[in-house]
Amino acid sequence: VPGGNPQIKPELMVEHLKATGGKYVTRFPPEPNGFLHIGHAKAININFGFAKAHNGICNLRYDDTNPEAEEERYFESILDIIKWLGFTPSEVTYSSTHFQRLYELAIELIKKDKAYVCHCTGEEIQKHRGGPERGPRTACVHRDRPIAESLELFEKMKNGEFQEGEAILRMKMDLENGNPQFWDLVAYRVLKSSHHRTGSEWVIYPTYDYTHCLVDSFENITHSLCTVEFMQSRASYYWLCDALEVYKPVQWEYGRLNVTNTILSKRKIAELVNKGHVLDWDDPRLYTLPAIRRRGVPPQAINNFVHTLGVTKSDTVIEVAKLDAFIRDYLNETAPRLMGVINPIKVVIENLPENYEQILTVPNKPRDPSMGEHTIPFTREVWIDGTDFREVDDKDFFRLAPGKTVGLLNVPCPITCTKVTKDASGKVVELVARYEDTPGFKRPKTYIQWVAESPKHGSPVRLDEVRLFDRLFNHSNPQDKREVPGGYLSDVNPDSLTIEKGALVEVGLWDIMNRWAKSSESKTDYEAMRFQLTRIGYFCVDKESDLGDFKARPEASLKDTCKKIIINRTVSLQVSSAL
Ligand code: ATP
Ligand code: MG
Ligand code: MG
Repeated sequence: VPGGNPQIKPELMVEHLKATGGKYVTRFPPEPNGFLHIGHAKAININFGFAKAHNGICNLRYDDTNPEAEEERYFESILDIIKWLGFTPSEVTYSSTHFQRLYELAIELIKKDKAYVCHCTGEEIQKHRGGPERGPRTACVHRDRPIAESLELFEKMKNGEFQEGEAILRMKMDLENGNPQFWDLVAYRVLKSSHHRTGSEWVIYPTYDYTHCLVDSFENITHSLCTVEFMQSRASYYWLCDALEVYKPVQWEYGRLNVTNTILSKRKIAELVNKGHVLDWDDPRLYTLPAIRRRGVPPQAINNFVHTLGVTKSDTVIEVAKLDAFIRDYLNETAPRLMGVINPIKVVIENLPENYEQILTVPNKPRDPSMGEHTIPFTREVWIDGTDFREVDDKDFFRLAPGKTVGLLNVPCPITCTKVTKDASGKVVELVARYEDTPGFKRPKTYIQWVAESPKHGSPVRLDEVRLFDRLFNHSNPQDKREVPGGYLSDVNPDSLTIEKGALVEVGLWDIMNRWAKSSESKTDYEAMRFQLTRIGYFCVDKESDLGDFKARPEASLKDTCKKIIINRTVSLQVSSAL
């Protein structure tokens, strides 16, 4: 075993092997006190991936020993996100399941003279720990109290006879050791809060340091994989397993993952939400996994990204642009293409007959027949994007301008702008163009997207909102005190969300939505409706859309049920500062 196999008593190993059949067992052990974030995607991939690579199993363990911070919605969201990433826990376990056994082992530990009840305050504990100002490390007066006394007091703790802070159980470790993880860590504290699973059964709760290694041991975890900040805890982890003579897993550490231009800390995200800088915990500008998911990022892109990071011990801060590149790569291969315009201008093609209509068959993805095709109408009136027209031409501008010719994607012949109509305020409201269908007409340099005006074919589809996102923070590290002296809240980019109303898309959107409605199991994963708006970016449907009663009408098309469509830009097509 790389990293060193800790010495395990042969009889414990025999028992362990009987339980596991020699298979590798790992676990992903989140505290259910918040939503998972991009860093957790690495932890999930490492734990599930390592087990899978060795034909082993991986559990999801809710490390639920802090009743005050835990909420049901976190439990649900965590499992949901793990499944979304494509992993299935072999078992879903809870540290709290073992509260009784952990308690019994604590009594055992006292009996072995390896734990004692202590009444020191946090301040007193700090003082005893010593240091440059405080002098040498010292034992407190409670450390040498008789075993029987600690047993009695621990019983009283359990029976609620102490208030919070009046008594703790501490492990009797090694004050001479240079590693602070040996300075008599706390094993139990009094907490008079109700636990989401055990209710009011307990008024004492075990700490992380006490619980984590023992529950790993109970679950026969072979490899306890954790992040590098637990490096010093490895020795105390082994100490406790040895002290209680229980099976001892191997602990390995790997580096934490962080990305630039964001914040992952729960407390800070809570502040962003409470102060209204973001919509909620799953605001697409955040890097919680629910937020990334809502932005339309495919789980495979996250896994691909995480895989390239490898498993090293160094903590890494990755440019968020690198994640974007993985998202683009994946969507480029998988997302169907649609035409849409965000700032529409109408173009009337004057030399086409009044009721002209041509049904065009267009590929879902150019040069990839495996992605299929769909049909769209081409009519006398079409919409183009305002950014593809300029009233004042320029020799370097190859789109539409008075007298200039441009191609319409998928349409046989180009158009030339012949007239510009303005309203009283001088705003361009309509363009008139000529369809250039004379044989041998010169091919245009540029092709732009367009959407037909054809009520008969239900075109265009009107979108209620297009949400475009930019970086939430201006600085690469918004928490850097020198670069951002005003603190991360002062670094919030006020233009990070742009909402466009009035965008139009082609009818191909219904194909994508109807396919989703047929194949989606949950029918709540709106973000799985992903597509590229040609020349604009990759998008998905946002959960705040109102798709109507489509669940009750399985035969209906979403075209007939949809009441409100909001789309999110997942990522732009080009590398730029914008998402
Ligand atoms: P946070 O405070 O950011 O939520 P945490 O370590 O308290 O982090 P846990 O819920 O305890 O979060 O994490 C579950 C697992 O995920 C742990 O094994 C932890 O080490 C790992 N993990 C947490 N953050 C990261 C990260 N940024 N990169 C890699 N692994 C991480
Ligand atoms: Mg933690
Ligand atoms: Mg945590």
